[in-house]
Amino acid sequence: MKINRNEQRPAVHPLTAQRRLLLDVMQRAGMHLDAKELYRRASEGSTNISLATVYRNLRLFREQGLIEEKHLGQMRCYYEIRRGAEHQHLVCRACGQVIEFESPLIRELVAEVQRTNSFCVTRVELCLEGYCNKCNEIGKE
Ligand SMILES: [Zn+2]
Ligand SMILES: [Zn+2]
Repeated sequence: MKINRNEQRPAVHPLTAQRRLLLDVMQRAGMHLDAKELYRRASEGSTNISLATVYRNLRLFREQGLIEEKHLGQMRCYYEIRRGAEHQHLVCRACGQVIEFESPLIRELVAEVQRTNSFCVTRVELCLEGYCNKCNEIGKE
């Protein structure tokens, strides 16, 4: 009689070349990319990648907790590699540039709000919209 051994299947999908390329592009960018910009950069490294592949993989990465999806201002959707450190965002309404910032004042504010409202805050997402230095200068002209 044969012993029926259960084949161990890997829980995580093996990274295909395209997936590795996409993660690599995001890591190297070190900033927020939207799907179209990610696609543009990825097609420089692989000619047969499609926008549909990019979207499919972004969904997968998100499910695996590798990246975060952020809706920052005007419904624009950005993706970034997940990091430990908490940070907030400034978004330019003209060029869409995203600037990250951190401030101990936010932690103080959250602590204060928690105390006065007896509310346990688990997530802080701050997105300030406006104009970056460059766009502000153009606006003045
Ligand atoms: Zn700008
Ligand atoms: Zn960010």
